[in-house]
Amino acid sequence: MPLFDHQCLHCDHVFEVLLKRGEDLPVCPRCGSADLRRLVGIPAFRVAGDASQVGRIERRVKDYLKDGKWRDATRFADQAASLTRSDKVKRIADKLHEKTKA
Ligand SMILES: [Zn+2]
Repeated sequence: MPLFDHQCLHCDHVFEVLLKRGEDLPVCPRCGSADLRRLVGIPAFRVAGDASQVGRIERRVKDYLKDGKWRDATRFADQAASLTRSDKVKRIADKLHEKTKA
């Protein structure tokens, strides 16, 4: 079953939703809002350290940075790092954390 990351447009909380066929749309577990955005491209990080996946993650992070979305980039890298357990992705996430702190 596919796991999808959703972001609450109300409180910014990001969480995973297991989407089952025919089920109602999820609501935010933090504030209960149904105003959600599905974060596409995040699901299906299944193979740890898959090189093509790491490349996709890097591109996505760069896309965020191009738009100046540091927070989104950092959050995405964090999620990707925890889902892929890839050292390379973890380093990207760490680097973003250092930059957002500075
Ligand atoms: Zn919320």
